[in-house]
Amino acid sequence: MTDCLFCRIVAGEIPADVVAETDSVIAFRDIAPKAPVHVLVVPRSHLANVAEVANADPGLLADMTALAQGIADAECGGQFRLIFNTGAEAGQSVFHAHGHVLGGAPLGWEPA
Ligand code: C5P
Repeated sequence: MTDCLFCRIVAGEIPADVVAETDSVIAFRDIAPKAPVHVLVVPRSHLANVAEVANADPGLLADMTALAQGIADAECGGQFRLIFNTGAEAGQSVFHAHGHVLGGAPLGWEPA
């Protein structure tokens, strides 16, 4: 069994509130939302961060972005912020690539 939390969500071993999925990407609500809409877009394959996704499969990064746009279209008028925390110092705590889709209210700009 893998000890990667998001691999286990992808496998259905840990429950998540899934809002959209494709053959390559799954999207579920963050358990600790930071905005009215806070969804994580996660590649099914285990890649540690967004740079690894881009290097391994640029089309997969496009798929993640398209799914983010689709969620924003459905839930927050097509406007959203897409954040990829990359590295612990940048706030990454789960080392399986994921984009945070944030929206549903005016967002501030204060990363630190
Ligand atoms: O960018 P970072 O790696 O910190 O993001 C991980 C995110 O995963 C957090 O926002 C956390 O709330 C979320 N999470 C989740 N479901 C879990 C564990 C963590 O949505 N079971």
